[in-house]
Amino acid sequence: MIDLHTHTTCSDGTDSPLMLVKKAAAAGITVLGLADHDSTSGWEEATNALHSDLQLVLGSEVSCLTEDGVAVHMLGMLFDGKDDEIQRLLADSRDTRIPRMRKMIENLRAAGYDITIEDVAQSTPEGATLGRPHLADALVKKKIVKSRDEAFADLLNNDSPFYVTHLSPTPEDAIRAIRKAGGVSVIAHPFASRRGQIIDESTFQSLVAAGLNGIEVYHRDHSEDERNQLMAVARSLDLVVTGSSDYHGTGKLNQLGENTTDRQEWERLESMANERRVVQRWMK
Ligand code: AMP
Ligand code: ZN
Ligand code: FE
Ligand code: FE
Repeated sequence: MIDLHTHTTCSDGTDSPLMLVKKAAAAGITVLGLADHDSTSGWEEATNALHSDLQLVLGSEVSCLTEDGVAVHMLGMLFDGKDDEIQRLLADSRDTRIPRMRKMIENLRAAGYDITIEDVAQSTPEGATLGRPHLADALVKKKIVKSRDEAFADLLNNDSPFYVTHLSPTPEDAIRAIRKAGGVSVIAHPFASRRGQIIDESTFQSLVAAGLNGIEVYHRDHSEDERNQLMAVARSLDLVVTGSSDYHGTGKLNQLGENTTDRQEWERLESMANERRVVQRWMK
């Protein structure tokens, strides 16, 4: 079972990289992708946790904004983690998440919600890429909402008056940086319209021109219709088709392996990286 998109406590998941690797192996995953938001800080722990024939695909989910202001998540996989340019791009994104969080808290406080940056800091694992789910956890702790889901539904979604974006690269720039670092790019949940505004079909051509390799079609946030439309886009542009869980531990309902990628599609994607970078532990 191939699941290329999961999160850990290095961003807004609730399992450590070590726990994630253990749970993935137990769930029958054979190829696991690590895709923490704007960070590669879990790579080492996950690599050290390998104890079976599980194969690890190191990556990151890069937050992007199109020139029209549409939020796009770009999965970068199999890139060289030591590449300066990509690490700078990820660090810049992480940095802007702090003032952005302060603004969201200001907005909430102005509307009478009793929440502070200290509350959010307490709900954020050390070193994690700061995100709205940590704010959601703080709101749960303060009994302002009951769950992350309720926090997003009522207060934190992209269409909410409290929402603030953070500075991010364009998806084209992210794709180019990932490619320069030897990796491959797959656009995550591109038609998940219930999350907010989505890109239109014509944008895919510009992404392909920048070097996009694949589309995440099978994802819980895509309706049947959205999947069908994306399959047609993938076919017409000869893009790799992936499916993945976007697992976040207990932070979301998504279960490991609930959506998966076909072996053939994965092999094609992997062959597009400039080096073989899948991590595996060779059995003696
Ligand atoms: P941010 O990176 O701060 O913009 O937050 C986006 C993250 O929030 C995404 O990775 C999602 O996993 C998470 N998210 C979005 N909607 C929900 C939801 N309804 N419940 C829990 N987490 C969510
Ligand atoms: Zn997330
Ligand atoms: Fe995402
Ligand atoms: Fe994700």
